[in-house]
Amino acid sequence: MQTIADNVRLLRERIAAAAERAGAAPESVSLVAAAKTRTPAEIRAAVEAGIEIVGENRVQEAEPKIAELAGLDCAWHMVGHLQRNKAGKALRLFDLLQSLDSRRLADELQKRAAAAGKIFPVLVEVNTSGEETKYGVSPEEAPDFVAYVASRANLGLEGLMTVGPLAGGPEAARAAFRTLRRLFEKTAPTGGASFRYLSMGMTEDFELAIEEGSNMVRVGRAIFGPR
Ligand SMILES: *Cc1c(COP(=O)(O)O)cnc(C)c1O
Repeated sequence: MQTIADNVRLLRERIAAAAERAGAAPESVSLVAAAKTRTPAEIRAAVEAGIEIVGENRVQEAEPKIAELAGLDCAWHMVGHLQRNKAGKALRLFDLLQSLDSRRLADELQKRAAAAGKIFPVLVEVNTSGEETKYGVSPEEAPDFVAYVASRANLGLEGLMTVGPLAGGPEAARAAFRTLRRLFEKTAPTGGASFRYLSMGMTEDFELAIEEGSNMVRVGRAIFGPR
């Protein structure tokens, strides 16, 4: 059986090869270990294998895992949809929210971050595939929403995120990633000084995503095995 450490090593090689094809430096691509359904022991093994960022999808699932792994040297990203009534908890638990997708959630986080006297790092999630089951603002709404988030004093806008389409194969994935890449270039001037992450690509499509300009991939199964 392949260990988590073997998987991470292999994944880094595949990321490096894809970055090379894109003309990017391998170390310019951040790797987030998507850890939904994984145990604290599995997450610890991933961090010991060099993972620096761990992603979680649900506040309720993440809370006890983060508590159990207190002191582990990694950052925690919320990558799933965040309900407004969990905003305060998310602010306390996570180092960055990748899935900011509405003004109401932005307002709630802004209010709570201001009260806590901190700046909360966020990415704006864009629904690039138009699939109804997906969260995120539409590509059409994205420029105005980026400007809105960038002007909230206690939100630190650091880039854009998308989840590629489930259907349509590699061509549909490529089209979605291209859409996000173009939006990233278009909105970078309004995004502000720390606008730098283009978070796209998962186990099935991270190489494609990197070829299309991704500099942050979120990978679960290729690290931890099937869910
Ligand atoms: C689960 C998940 C991933 C990783 O998916 P894998 O197919 O396991 O690589 C990435 N991003 C988000 C938002 C996820 O929910």
